[in-house]
Amino acid sequence: MPKMFKKKEAEEKIFKVKRGKFISRLRGMKDILPDEYKYWNLVIKKASELSKAYGFRRLETPILENLELYERSSGRASDLVTKEMFSFVDKNDDKIALRPEATPGLVRAYVEHGMFNLPQPVKLFWLGPVFRHDKPQAGRFRQFSQFNLETIGEPSPVADAELIALTYYFFSELQLEVAIQINSIGCALCRKEYLVKLDNFYKERGRRAKLCQTCKKRLAKNPLRLLDCKEKQCLEIAGEAPQIVDSLCDDCRNHFIKVLEYLDGLDIPYNLNPTLVRGLDYYNRTVFEIWPSSAEATDGKPAEAEALRNEQPRQNALGGGGRYDGLVEHSGGRPTEACGFAIGLERVILKIKEKNIPLKDEEKGDIFLAQLGDQARRKIMLLFEELRKSGLSVRQAFTKDSLKAQLEVANKMGVKYTLILGQKEIMDGTILIRDMESGIQEVIDYKKIAVELEKRLSNNK
Ligand code: AMP
Repeated sequence: MPKMFKKKEAEEKIFKVKRGKFISRLRGMKDILPDEYKYWNLVIKKASELSKAYGFRRLETPILENLELYERSSGRASDLVTKEMFSFVDKNDDKIALRPEATPGLVRAYVEHGMFNLPQPVKLFWLGPVFRHDKPQAGRFRQFSQFNLETIGEPSPVADAELIALTYYFFSELQLEVAIQINSIGCALCRKEYLVKLDNFYKERGRRAKLCQTCKKRLAKNPLRLLDCKEKQCLEIAGEAPQIVDSLCDDCRNHFIKVLEYLDGLDIPYNLNPTLVRGLDYYNRTVFEIWPSSAEATDGKPAEAEALRNEQPRQNALGGGGRYDGLVEHSGGRPTEACGFAIGLERVILKIKEKNIPLKDEEKGDIFLAQLGDQARRKIMLLFEELRKSGLSVRQAFTKDSLKAQLEVANKMGVKYTLILGQKEIMDGTILIRDMESGIQEVIDYKKIAVELEKRLSNNK
């Protein structure tokens, strides 16, 4: 083959890109597109402001942790560990998990960094992604984000009430109506007695036969979990079960009463929910969840039965938490009482969207800078930086040439004024200022831009 042909063929190989097969995102995973960020910014800002005001300090932990951390903390038999965890063996044969929840990692960090030496309680604020191999559906993803607060090193019921109050303020300030569900599952001692009663109840007169398959298995291993099964037939039976609050020891009962008294004092509404137990091993005493208020969850239609009323919001819980007094010690630390909560941000954002709550569009600005010709573009690029640094909310479309196209962008960004610079204005030392509402354009002295803008924008307020 002649040399020239060989070269051409090689060039073709380099430059000819074959269209590849498209690989879509994984099931249950989502992209957050630019239009969504106004919602994310809002909820993150609210979470950060509240956390700061109440003295919670932010920290981050790795997404990957030892699998054993979750097996030991969340519970080897929990759904989270047995069914939902993403785990793998890495190149060193270590068993690794993608965090399915934040609390075990936060407690690990508390012990590992000797935070028990700090003044107690240590109040932690955490925001980040978690991973669960859940069955994807509306509001249920395999990667989602949580906002967590943990108060570590505080036995007082004030800490529980403070957390519940904070979740309530978080939702009410976002204009979302929620129903706080609360219960106490006591301590290891009083629960032991209760579990005997529960076991007897479920074994009574053919009740066991009516349970779902999973609950039949749970009955032997963890009967408490039968109470929060989401299957309709199990919910109905759970409604008749003996209530754990009736079996609480004096200390646990007094603790629970105090939590409720603090909430009453703050006028925070709640529902005492005897079937709320939360699914993880580490909880004791106060447990709570935040449900969308039932009017919203059923679209205002009266629910047919108590079971149905309970079922829908329970599956779409916006957040949940509770006390975990044994977890720090169980994780290798000193005996340390603690409590915390997690709120799922995707579900919060879905609710904000459903309710059409108007949001400030942060991409919008006050002034747009338009240019005609390359010389004007160079000058306007410098002016843009000057105005931006002076604190003005300026927008631009430097890559566009036509004035029509630039004015279209300016309109989209909802600016009040557009400054237009062309060849003639450069020669005259002027610039045009266009009032976007009236369309009126005036010539102003280029040197007086800042003064003019300040005057016009302050008149506009
Ligand atoms: P949990 O600790 O399981 O109660 O989770 C706390 C919060 O995270 C829930 O109340 C939900 O708001 C949210 N959440 C849990 N699982 C998912 C999921 N698969 N997809 C989206 N959000 C979730």
